[in-house]
Amino acid sequence: KEDLDKGLEKTKSNFFGKLTKAVAGKSTVDEEVLDELENILITSDVGLDTTVKIIERIEERVARDKYINTSELNEILRDEIVRLLAENNTEDLEEYSLPSTETPTIILVVGVNGVGKTTTIGKLAWQYKQQGKKVVVGAGDTFRAAAVDQLKIWSERVGCDFYSKGMYTDPAAVAYETVNYAIENGHDVAIIDTAGRLHTKINLMKELGKIKRSISKKMPTAPHEVLLVLDATTGQNAIEQAKHFTNATDVTALALTKLDGTAKGGVVLGISDIFKIPIKYIGVGEGIEQLQIFNKRAFVESLFA
Ligand code: GDP
Repeated sequence: KEDLDKGLEKTKSNFFGKLTKAVAGKSTVDEEVLDELENILITSDVGLDTTVKIIERIEERVARDKYINTSELNEILRDEIVRLLAENNTEDLEEYSLPSTETPTIILVVGVNGVGKTTTIGKLAWQYKQQGKKVVVGAGDTFRAAAVDQLKIWSERVGCDFYSKGMYTDPAAVAYETVNYAIENGHDVAIIDTAGRLHTKINLMKELGKIKRSISKKMPTAPHEVLLVLDATTGQNAIEQAKHFTNATDVTALALTKLDGTAKGGVVLGISDIFKIPIKYIGVGEGIEQLQIFNKRAFVESLFA
């Protein structure tokens, strides 16, 4: 909880600093306050469509209740945000449970370079390891010099197994062999990294398609999860990336990293609203423990604490 509070500090002070200014000296929520709120949401990277949706809901409340105290605005806003998040994140995870009961469970991790993909894999591996699970990470990002090494370092830190064929090898072959390795060695879970190259939509689609197919060749029900990692500090860019990846492949869950480094945590709302894919994890720091399960209520409570 402390991590979450701290992680959201920048977003919070940005948001509420502006909101406090917007309602200063006003007793009721009027047109002007709503305009200002709209601006604040947009500059917090909530995104235009989602902002409009929130504003419309508040307008409905204002119309219904006739008179809304500015001091009630926080509460109403909080309700609406929870409601919005609940539409796409119906059930928050309660623990770091595997996305499947099948063994090994295969998780494919996708995302652009630098978003925190390797770190997220390491943090997730660590959580599973803490539960006594046998974990292997597969070095499928074979195009970037440091990627394989970094994943190896993470695996050593975590104390899990590491599967690699080195650099410039075929990522689909690495994926296939990691699954094979996990089956043969009785791993509970294999987390497979991929290259974050986003040159063209077609290429991305082909590349991810090939990786997925080669995993399914070894294990027809896998991958059990395609986790897209997005960097919250990039705001609207994260939304653009999510569009590319969701068009290229079936993304089943999202991880939003670096919430601690941004005042634009509002992007969580926009992403949830636009993509209708559950946000499973949020990164709130560089530390091994600083990957949290996304809990909408805890998130909103922290935001409004
Ligand atoms: P990749 O290129 O996507 O694999 O990205 P990395 O995992 O190498 O991460 C890039 C940088 O972001 C590293 O310096 C990480 O320590 C940092 N990072 C990753 N997740 C978080 C997070 O949740 N918070 C903060 N503050 N930094 C993070």
